[in-house]
Amino acid sequence: MRPTILHPLFAEITALPGVGPRLAKLFAKLAGERALDLCWHLPSGLIDRSYQPRLAEAEIGRVATVTVTVTGQEPGRGPRQPLRVRCEDATSTLDLVFFHAKPDWIAKQLPLGATRVVSGKIEAYGSHLQMIHPDYILAPEEKDSLAGVEPIYPLTAGLTPKTMVKAVRAAVGRAPELPEWLDPALQRQRGWPAWRQALDAAHRPEREADLEPTTLARQRLAYDELLANQLALAIVRLNQRKARGRGLRGDGGLTAKALAALPFDLTPAQQQAWAEIAADLAAETRMLRLLQGDVGSGKTVVALLAMLTAVEAGHQAALMAPTELLARQHYETIAPLAEAAGVEVLVLTGRDKGKARQAALARLAEGSARLAIGTHALFQQDVDFADLGLAVIDEQHRFGVHQRLSLAAKGRAVDVLVMTATPIPRTLVLTAYGDMESSRITGKPPGRQPVDTRTLPLERLEEVAEAVARKIAAGGKVYWVCPLVEESETGDLAAAEERHALLAERFPGKTGLLHGRMKAADKDAVMAGFAEGPLQLLVATTVIEVGVNVPSATVMVIEQAERFGLAQLHQLRGRIGRGSEKSTCLLLYAPPLGAVARERLKVLRETDDGFRIAETDLELRGAGELLGTRQSGLPQFRLADLETQADLLAVARDDARLILERDPELQNERGRALRVLLYLFERDEGIRYLRSG
Ligand code: ADP
Ligand code: MG
Repeated sequence: MRPTILHPLFAEITALPGVGPRLAKLFAKLAGERALDLCWHLPSGLIDRSYQPRLAEAEIGRVATVTVTVTGQEPGRGPRQPLRVRCEDATSTLDLVFFHAKPDWIAKQLPLGATRVVSGKIEAYGSHLQMIHPDYILAPEEKDSLAGVEPIYPLTAGLTPKTMVKAVRAAVGRAPELPEWLDPALQRQRGWPAWRQALDAAHRPEREADLEPTTLARQRLAYDELLANQLALAIVRLNQRKARGRGLRGDGGLTAKALAALPFDLTPAQQQAWAEIAADLAAETRMLRLLQGDVGSGKTVVALLAMLTAVEAGHQAALMAPTELLARQHYETIAPLAEAAGVEVLVLTGRDKGKARQAALARLAEGSARLAIGTHALFQQDVDFADLGLAVIDEQHRFGVHQRLSLAAKGRAVDVLVMTATPIPRTLVLTAYGDMESSRITGKPPGRQPVDTRTLPLERLEEVAEAVARKIAAGGKVYWVCPLVEESETGDLAAAEERHALLAERFPGKTGLLHGRMKAADKDAVMAGFAEGPLQLLVATTVIEVGVNVPSATVMVIEQAERFGLAQLHQLRGRIGRGSEKSTCLLLYAPPLGAVARERLKVLRETDDGFRIAETDLELRGAGELLGTRQSGLPQFRLADLETQADLLAVARDDARLILERDPELQNERGRALRVLLYLFERDEGIRYLRSG
């Protein structure tokens, strides 16, 4: 349960004075739905309202606070014309300009003859001075309510700076003093203020330098967030390890048979990863290891060897994939090899229902099926394993920590291997998985030709279509990936459908369409048509990003490539270059390209090393945008900025480790404060593993 001390912060935003449902919607779009979210909404600039010149001396283009008398009004002639309120001081005149002004409101705010303090940007309009929509219009006696320096917050349409400042102030005003969770020595050494003070200071910048991520206040807030992240992960990990492992030692019989059935030898990188995993399996502690390898680097085989080792040791093993399509594909790769080893394997996804499902469940529960491959259907409540020893989780970043835990909970002391095809830079591994062992498969299996990647402006679409036509005439297979339209799935879909219609006209009977809204069965039918049937051109949205394997496809066209994340483009491109034939990837972009976009596309042309691409992506775009953010499932930080504050992450990791060594249940005074921290950042999933304190 969330500590009561935090309740004021977790109140709905409408609890703030002056915030009704209309404003709440705007705030929600910008920051979130609770008071807390406004506290995390830090200023990005500041305005100095203490600049109070006389009109004749006012600097054009600068925000000024001036005291004036209203002398007249010029109503807008015609609906588009603004209303101008004439004002003056002893030195000059100023027009206050209002578009779509309501006359009543103007009459009340700026009655003829009244003295007013107005604050806003001074502009020149011909030889006149003007101020469009002043930020503030105050009576002289209210002048003191203007802070000398006012923070500027990122805004959204419909929100004024004034409303924003007021709401944030109110939200920050709800923040209580919280018990100190920092290590006293660390806090002293860094000179960090207490949490409440840090929050206050972050929202009251006095000069530009106060907006930097290096200020003590911002450092502290960022550190708190990173510590919450690292501590939560460390708690989960501690608990995964708490139950003693079981030392899964195989006799090598089954793995030898599977290896013999493979038409190739393992690459050195695969062997290395396999050795690391085997050592973990054999150890008495529970395995929690990340297997990172680029698309097509051959992780599946390594995972299968691990699974067969678990079977040799007398247990079952399960592999969980994020999508139906992927689960089926894994099944198809693994089934013949498992058969060669004489091991029964079954597949279980959301599509299996009724009798078939019951039969599969029975085989898992009695233990006749030794290997299971599936989707999240594998960890539904009614799925029981006779004795699950190893859980392999593919493309884990699409699953949450919860799901990872629930599969591991299906057995006693289950070893966990997490596979990801998204090369994740080291810093991000830490934020997503905590202090987790990791094996990397670098390089590709032998015999692969690097994909020839080219970038072309969209105007050359017709040329591209002709090249595709030649490829199709020669019997080849082509992916055509459609642009990502702003955050809207329906938009993506419309674009893909339109492109499909055009291409289907040109290549009738040979063009298929694949998108995320399709039913699983329809998707499979299209995929099968492309892999083995008559389809030679597959128009798709990014659903093909993960895992699809059609080695005979050798061309990929990506429209408006500049809109995709770099890692995502790399993933997509990984769908080709899987066979021995030379492959080509055509990245179409809509000019003009910005400097960063150009740099990103250049990296893709230069290398197909996923790790290098991922590091470059991090450098060029920042962690927040990496991996096409929304699907990535990587934690998003509100306060911490991994580009400028990455050093704090390592400190937080060590801090978290030490905390749990000394006080694993978070029971002592600092421990209890740390519980508050976890709730504050909503990283409390792990707390239920702790005894209540
Ligand atoms: P990943 O899961 O890492 O994306 P896969 O395991 O699906 O990659 O492997 C991609 C392809 O490479 C598969 O067709 C697989 O059979 C093949 N492959 C894997 N390891 C090797 C190897 N050592 N030599 C040749 N081909 C391999
Ligand atoms: Mg794979």
